[in-house]
Amino acid sequence: MAPQCGLCRAEMVGFVIPESIVEFAPAQGTFASLCRVCLTLEVHETAIEVDEPLSVISAAFPDDETEAAMIAILVGLLDSLALHRRAIQAVVFELESVGVDALLVLDRLIDDSSLRPAIDLDRRVYQLGQLLE
Ligand SMILES: [Zn+2]
Repeated sequence: MAPQCGLCRAEMVGFVIPESIVEFAPAQGTFASLCRVCLTLEVHETAIEVDEPLSVISAAFPDDETEAAMIAILVGLLDSLALHRRAIQAVVFELESVGVDALLVLDRLIDDSSLRPAIDLDRRVYQLGQLLE
């Protein structure tokens, strides 16, 4: 069974945290899941079911599962820019190195009206843009 969101009870989508950014995840673990409605991230130390691509949450996610997983971790880190500043910069840099513009993907997530983000994604992405300048 896929994990259930602790916040809104929707089903979450499990994924494997890419090795290149595992140290930057907001908690220790190899697996994570992202809520398909409110985009809450949970990190898991034990294996969870990984059976759907993250693009089922939104077409904004890159088709490449590793890139999509990096975006999912980034969304999780945005709950506190102050706390996760270094990790956020590192993940954005990792995405850049594989040719993904994190801000562009996040803007598309904001525009996806089927999502109900638990955090003020609009504001956080604006702040992220300033942080990266
Ligand atoms: Zn949720």
